[in-house]
Amino acid sequence: VLRTPASPPRRHGTADEPLPVLGNDVLAPLVTGGEVYYAALDYAASAPVLRRVWDDLAAYAPYYGSVHRGAGHLSQVSTRLYEESRATVARFLGCRPDDEVVFTRATTDSLNLLARALPEGTRVFVFETEHHASLLPWRGRHTTCLRAPRTPEQAVAALDEALHAAPAGPKLVCVTGASNVTGEIWPVRELAAAAHRHGARIVLDAAQLAPHHPVDIAELDVDWVAFSGHKLYAPFGAGVLAGRPDWLRGAEPYLSGGGASRRVARRADGALDVEWHTNAARHEAGSPNVIGAYAVASACRALEEAGFDRLVRRERQLLARVLEALADVPGVRVLSLFGEEAERVGVLSFVVDGWNSSHFAAALSAEYGIGVRDGMFCAHPLLRVLLGGAADEPGECGGVSGPSGASGAAPEPGERSLNA
Ligand code: PLP
Repeated sequence: VLRTPASPPRRHGTADEPLPVLGNDVLAPLVTGGEVYYAALDYAASAPVLRRVWDDLAAYAPYYGSVHRGAGHLSQVSTRLYEESRATVARFLGCRPDDEVVFTRATTDSLNLLARALPEGTRVFVFETEHHASLLPWRGRHTTCLRAPRTPEQAVAALDEALHAAPAGPKLVCVTGASNVTGEIWPVRELAAAAHRHGARIVLDAAQLAPHHPVDIAELDVDWVAFSGHKLYAPFGAGVLAGRPDWLRGAEPYLSGGGASRRVARRADGALDVEWHTNAARHEAGSPNVIGAYAVASACRALEEAGFDRLVRRERQLLARVLEALADVPGVRVLSLFGEEAERVGVLSFVVDGWNSSHFAAALSAEYGIGVRDGMFCAHPLLRVLLGGAADEPGECGGVSGPSGASGAAPEPGERSLNA
């Protein structure tokens, strides 16, 4: 696999063009014949920004201005672009007419926002297979963490059973559309149907699904969708929570401050009276990230224009090629929850017999200029299931890709895994 890459690695610069800040030393391991090559396969962590998105941002730069708080021309243009970005995202996600699109920092932020907006007494249902972003924000609520299913059908049956046994009252199911660890696609439509059969709401963590696969809120019949711009070929800093407005409108603002408030007055008794906005602005206090929102919208447009049919087909071809090639490498095991029949996006993880994954990842980078991620991928319970309990006590989310092991503990050979 490594000796015959599918396509030439991306040219990243030359030895004579050092990175502006870091200089040549960080590039040194990747210099081949005076040119620097690097194949970034860790798109599941953050994908490169599309040239088209950088170009859109450059075209916007002369109009850069504050949003919703200025009468000047630049403010007006920026406000218009910000609100049009919201409409673009709504179209990209197939939102229903009354769905709200809230700009956040990323998926983690979106799910924390929703967690704060749950009505009193909401019971939350998640699988242990979730990314920590969709597993942890519900802490402090009555949360049922379901065991990892081994087939999509088992997932639906387990959720159905758990919801059936739950007492009356508001309920929320949170599920990941595609796993950042296995790339496997979850039966979202069926899980949504099960949730709604029992009067529960469902939020889809589409951080990995949205960049690879069409996500249609109305067609999937999910109540909310969360995703991150930086995994959708836009830069860091902006994400989205889109969906039903009622719980969002009924909740205290995620952050208190300007922009979220419609009217603030001092009462005679010295207290403050605040009237909050009832639309998306309620949860977007402070100066909005107009560049981030515009970049997310630009990436959505680029994906729409490229066409998901074509993208999905191409990714399937590439994935089949990688899986076939990895199957020929002795000692490599590709991680899977649902088995060979599972539908996947173009994300996979593997372990290599006898290799500590941090060392393996470091070797891939230093010797071949291939960037992968290693570690526990912010999904510790899932990794324990996939590795049969052999996972080490994990370090921090994000893993490590150097032999020194930034997590402190030195993992044994075969522990943890690699993600590409
Ligand atoms: N959900 C999934 C499935 C992810 O893969 C990630 C990031 O890896 C997240 C949520 C969190 O995304 P972010 O770090 O952009 O908030």
